[in-house]
Amino acid sequence: MGNVQILLRQHVGAPCGAIVAAGDKVEKGTLIATPAGLGANIFSSVYGVVEEVLEDRIVIKPDEEQKEEFVPIEEGSKLEMVKAAGVVGMGGAGFPTGVKIGTDLDGGYILVNAAECEPGLCHNIRQIEEECDKVIRGVKHTMEISNASKAIFAIKKKNEKAVQTLKEALKDEEAISIFLLPDIYPMGEERAVVRECLGIELAPTELPSVAKSIVINVETLARVTEAIEERKPCFSKNLTVIGKLNGGNEPHVFIDVPVGTSVSELIERAGGIDGEYGEIIMGGPFTGKATALDAPITKTTGGIIVTIEFPDLHGADMGVLVCACGGDEARMRDIAQKMNANVVSVARCKQAAEMKNGALKCERPGNCPGQVKNSLQFKKDKCEYIIIGNCSDCSNTVMGSAPKMGLKVFHQTDHVMRTIGHPLYRHLTVSKRVEQDM
Ligand code: SF4
Repeated sequence: MGNVQILLRQHVGAPCGAIVAAGDKVEKGTLIATPAGLGANIFSSVYGVVEEVLEDRIVIKPDEEQKEEFVPIEEGSKLEMVKAAGVVGMGGAGFPTGVKIGTDLDGGYILVNAAECEPGLCHNIRQIEEECDKVIRGVKHTMEISNASKAIFAIKKKNEKAVQTLKEALKDEEAISIFLLPDIYPMGEERAVVRECLGIELAPTELPSVAKSIVINVETLARVTEAIEERKPCFSKNLTVIGKLNGGNEPHVFIDVPVGTSVSELIERAGGIDGEYGEIIMGGPFTGKATALDAPITKTTGGIIVTIEFPDLHGADMGVLVCACGGDEARMRDIAQKMNANVVSVARCKQAAEMKNGALKCERPGNCPGQVKNSLQFKKDKCEYIIIGNCSDCSNTVMGSAPKMGLKVFHQTDHVMRTIGHPLYRHLTVSKRVEQDM
């Protein structure tokens, strides 16, 4: 095992401060960094010796022999234990779970985000299939902590085995039900989960608590169970490695990987890269970013994707259409540059509202406001190609206008979809509503 690099910022909030120094011996579960304000404790994920403490990370040289045992957190109330264990939103958001579930829902809802919306990723669904009971116990602990009277699993209907496993496990649970989502992107955005499950439309600035609900990811719930029942600190991560790998493009699911493990080590465990490749993405095809082989995984890493090579557009002029739920402008420009395109025009989906912190949030996730105006802008700016990062519904709408104007369309996820054998995001082929058969 190579050195483990544990980043000091793995959550929403300021980076943690290191409380260890070079030369310190650490165990699995040793507290190594703590937050000053909003944030979450960070623990060593291995037995070893601290090699360096840098501004943004702690580097640990692991011992050759690694034991399963870990240093447990102190006993306390359920909420105190979730906070002490440093659990954060492991679906990618990284919001400290102890703060989120500390909200009094006054009899409201826990909405389990099992959408696993990013194509190619499947570790959440695998966890439901294989550790359903642990996730459901996490739901019950969370309901108790936040004073919720009901819980709903929001899961895509296409995941038949997981849906069946849930139905079986929940057959005697009156307070916990299942809501089937369509297979479109983005269904895992938390306001989309609230809208689908409860029929309440939240504004981009509103949190699910306005609808007396908390949206929480599957793995996060399993980590809540571990914190409360095993006194286990949060130092491991479940993720999917997929792409242009020796042995084929089937997903490799890894459970309980030590946080801080390098991307290259996980790719090797999945078979290694098969020849030339385009890029390595950390995260999903829509919201992930290009990463390097020596980058470490964090508590929020959900995927590592090795893609096929990019097409070469030989400097052709390109327009970029940015979506709130896909890559930001920098990521879209990064992909355009890797395709050797010349960006001459940038537009934004009109439902992508800019928040105070500069981040974009969709006003009505997954419901297209129309894209003709953007296509006209690209036409006027003499683009030969456009690259879009839109949701399923808006990609469908772009396809209704752009090709008729002579614009050739790429989607930011094309190179990933081609790598993993998934249909490209162009025309919508599934219904936006699923008949509930519970
Ligand atoms: S409506 Fe626009 S901003 Fe919202 S998800 Fe679709 S493309 Fe993105």
